[in-house]
Amino acid sequence: MEIERHEYDVVVIGAGGAGLRAAIEARQQGKRTAIVCKSLFGKAHTVMAEGGAAAAMGNVNPDDNWMVHFRDTMRGGKFLNNWRMAELHAKEAPDRVWELEAWGALFDRTKDGKISQRNFGGHEYPRLAHVGDRTGLELIRTLQQRVVALQQEDYENHGDYEAYIKVFSECTVTRLLKENDAIAGAFGYWRETGNFVLFDAPAVVLATGGIGKSYVVTSNSWEYTGDGHALALLAGAKLINMEFIQFHPTGMVWPPSVRGILVTESVRGDGGVLRNSLGERFMFNYIPEVFKDKYATTEEEGDRWYTDQANNRRPPELLPRDEVARAINSEVKAGRGSPQGGVFLDVSTRLPAAEIIKRLPSMHHQFKELADVDITAEPMQVGPTCHYIMGGVEVDADTGAAAVPGLFAAGEVSGGMHGSNRLGGNSLSDLLVFGRRAGAGASAYVDSLPARPAVSQESVDSARAEALAPLERSGENPYEVHAELQRTMNDLVGIIRRAEEISEALEVVEKLKERVHLVGAAGGRVYNPGWHLALDLRNMLLVSECVAKAALLREESRGGHTRDDFPGMNPEWRRKLLVCSATADGSAVTVEEKIQPAMREDLLNLFEVSELKKYLTDEELS
Ligand code: FAD
Repeated sequence: MEIERHEYDVVVIGAGGAGLRAAIEARQQGKRTAIVCKSLFGKAHTVMAEGGAAAAMGNVNPDDNWMVHFRDTMRGGKFLNNWRMAELHAKEAPDRVWELEAWGALFDRTKDGKISQRNFGGHEYPRLAHVGDRTGLELIRTLQQRVVALQQEDYENHGDYEAYIKVFSECTVTRLLKENDAIAGAFGYWRETGNFVLFDAPAVVLATGGIGKSYVVTSNSWEYTGDGHALALLAGAKLINMEFIQFHPTGMVWPPSVRGILVTESVRGDGGVLRNSLGERFMFNYIPEVFKDKYATTEEEGDRWYTDQANNRRPPELLPRDEVARAINSEVKAGRGSPQGGVFLDVSTRLPAAEIIKRLPSMHHQFKELADVDITAEPMQVGPTCHYIMGGVEVDADTGAAAVPGLFAAGEVSGGMHGSNRLGGNSLSDLLVFGRRAGAGASAYVDSLPARPAVSQESVDSARAEALAPLERSGENPYEVHAELQRTMNDLVGIIRRAEEISEALEVVEKLKERVHLVGAAGGRVYNPGWHLALDLRNMLLVSECVAKAALLREESRGGHTRDDFPGMNPEWRRKLLVCSATADGSAVTVEEKIQPAMREDLLNLFEVSELKKYLTDEELS
């Protein structure tokens, strides 16, 4: 059968915040742009983001500025961040938020009419621009509206709404195609019909989001199977920081059907507190040495901070997520958990009911509908859930370019910006800042090419054969392989890790890699979820192998990587990145150490030497 074929300058894979912002930029630079997304248009993770977008606009506290945001981001990432990305992000996030407003976003306001900003863990000042607890929805709505506005402009100029920007939704990309080592296109299938589609394009921007579906307990939805990570690896790009996975401290723990669904950090930002079964606010027992001077040591001081931030320190419930998740894990392990294996998160005794409903409408609705819990009257039960991957495609900070010519990445699929741990709110701003930069980078790359690359029939045939293979077998059940992978990653490469367990996980992954070659999908190509999962398994296994191999090598604990057998941070490891690469068929994954470039001096000078001593080696300090 003929394969449907389209020609574009830039193909953006993913229609979350990063993908849409990249596509808007490419179109604004005059490039013919395709947006391809696996789920429905508008249904990306970004739409689920609740708390807000971090940007140092200084609307609520005028002392905030990009330098404070940069420092917070580096501290949150335990200094492993790509400092250039952290710098660009802190400097450009306010402009990207104001730009959204100019495109029609309606943020919550302060009393004097500015964009309101809320507190979040690890941010020194109220910094998250938000729309109740539905910020991601407004962000996506606005970006989609911008796409439509550009399409209307194109209609006026070219008589065709889709002349320069077109959306292909429910279309999954399974392979990037290269010629002479540079990107030449992308191959995929339509979810509904199972028919194949080929995009000829010299530049591809990956904006495919995360990998959460490799874990059983996750806040991520079905699409997050690490496709972009795997597509990049298979095309010859590198992944960094894959050992760092953020377990959000507060996911729902009950009932089992909704286990892992996110409970936004805004609950704590707006005054919610964590208690164990003895009623203790246990976070006061878990303030790590590096943060001791920044957090309140008594409940009274922590409570005063909500109304007087100038004279008090933040409560420890607002420590970075890795710290809070580990603390909850320890309380549960010590037998001080809630009846369903979490801890209590209480906002009901802290704010009037009307205020809770106003500030946290989705949380109120979510608990009432899913758990029959009224959060205005009783505490929630919460526990850690796999939420976000800090690791991803190694990119050039300024352009989003990956190691493969023509390949760009932005958003959660890219690595570096957040180091070993992302601060809440820093993803939405990351999507906007680096989505725009990747769109611009891809456009400039296209302009620089003397000629367009041509996709060879051989590479199309091979992508087609790979995609059809599960339909031609009737062996292993894809759901069983998936369940075993999820359990393995959850239990053996989860929030607390040790060498023997990670090695055991790698043995299981190796066996699953063999089994995946036997996975079959009954039924034809028309809307066949078993077939789709069989194809996603390749990606989840590859990504899981990278996570486990890097986790085994990094013999220290830092951010989203906690080794029981190597409990502390080691300054030597701060300088090292673990870089994953794979063979084109994915059969072998290798991980190598690479020394990070030293931070620019003017950025280093933003920190006190006493603080740098906690992270840097003596050699670096001298
Ligand atoms: P996504 O928004 O995840 O979009 C990925 C896109 O790629 C989708 O369109 C998907 O269909 C497509 N795709 C994937 N694979 C393929 C493929 N093979 N072929 C074609 N298309 C593909 N961050 C914050 O900063 N603030 C918050 O308040 C916040 N709250 C959150 C709440 C929840 C419940 C969750 C899950 C996350 C939250 N985050 C938050 C994190 C943040 O939402 C995500 O990191 C971010 O939205 C990722 O955006 P993205 O553009 O990289 O990808």
